Amino acid sequence: MSGVWVGLETNNGELRSVAFEMLTAARRLADASGAQVCAFVWGEGAQDSAKALGECGADSVVVVELSGDASARPAEVSAALAQLAAEQKPSVVLLADGAFSRSVAPALAQKLSASFVADVIDVAFDEKPVFTRLPYSGKVIERVAPTDASALTIASIRPKAFEAAQPEEGRTAGVSTFAASPVAAARVLQDVVRAVSERVDLSEADVVVSGGRGLKGPEGFKVLEELADVLGAAIGASRPAIDEGWIDAQYQVGQTGKTVAPSLYIACGISGSIQHMAGISASKYIVAINKDPEAEIFAQADYGIVADLFEAVPLLTQQMRDMLQA
Ligand SMILES: Cc1cc2nc3c(=O)[nH]c(=O)nc-3n(C[C@H](O)[C@H](O)[C@H](O)COP(=O)(O)OP(=O)(O)OC[C@H]3O[C@@H](n4cnc5c(N)ncnc54)[C@H](O)[C@@H]3O)c2cc1C
Repeated sequence: MSGVWVGLETNNGELRSVAFEMLTAARRLADASGAQVCAFVWGEGAQDSAKALGECGADSVVVVELSGDASARPAEVSAALAQLAAEQKPSVVLLADGAFSRSVAPALAQKLSASFVADVIDVAFDEKPVFTRLPYSGKVIERVAPTDASALTIASIRPKAFEAAQPEEGRTAGVSTFAASPVAAARVLQDVVRAVSERVDLSEADVVVSGGRGLKGPEGFKVLEELADVLGAAIGASRPAIDEGWIDAQYQVGQTGKTVAPSLYIACGISGSIQHMAGISASKYIVAINKDPEAEIFAQADYGIVADLFEAVPLLTQQMRDMLQA
């Protein structure tokens, strides 16, 4: 197999943890096939992140310099990667699953006549790269491989599906830069709305406190926020809470929302529909708080509390606060 590429975007000047998880996936493919891992990184602070990428498994790092026009960024990145891939012919290009990759990857695949595999949770090498994903709300395990071993596959990697690569002493990578040609954006970006939150990113959070229709209104989330503050957790929500306008859509967890994989997922006033569970099945422990002992979620939760959440959550918050301060 020829090269395994990892395309990485910085977030507020830093690499997201998924970057190091992608290096784990890339190294697995490269080590099994004798290929090299090349990391392409762009965005604010990209140059500064090159050293860490080398220490954590990249054999080489290319800093992609962009024009700075935010609306053209996906077009510029896909044009730059397409140009480099046409010249250097990697076998695999990995991107982080999310809004950006959903914009870049199909365009890149089209330009390079490559296949695109979305939301990959595992990789292996068996004469050709094999990608595992969980379609149909996780009811099916699908393993996908290119029909032609030399064909290029572009894959997006689900955050938290892989262990993050750790720095190895003495490991370094050669660093170069590539100036992307300015590209006119195919679409005009009219506005960038960034919800400023002090909280950890939902899809990368280790603890998530999530609320559903049982919260009864936006003020219900205030009760959850207090628990989340004590635990350093991210806030999540079921779809009705979004549909009712109680909380922003970025917090939706489930089949049509975000997929999370925390160590602890606390579901408050959530019944456990298949569409919600599809987004949380990779959680290590699920704790459900629901006043209905027959609620579906208790069948899948590791711990269940049959109680009114407006009583149970403040009590839990107080207990956790006392425990953590002791
Ligand atoms: C195509 C499609 C995609 C979908 N995608 C998603 C998705 O991504 N994410 C998602 O979440 N849903 C999704 N849904 C909706 C999904 O089918 C369910 O309707 C939804 O998950 C239910 O949300 P809920 O559990 O908050 O509400 P409900 O099912 O109404 O459950 C509310 C729960 O709160 C409990 N409760 C009420 N009051 C209290 C209280 N005071 N204390 C404790 N418990 C209380 C009740 O006993 C009940 O179990 C999708 C549906 C479709 C058709």
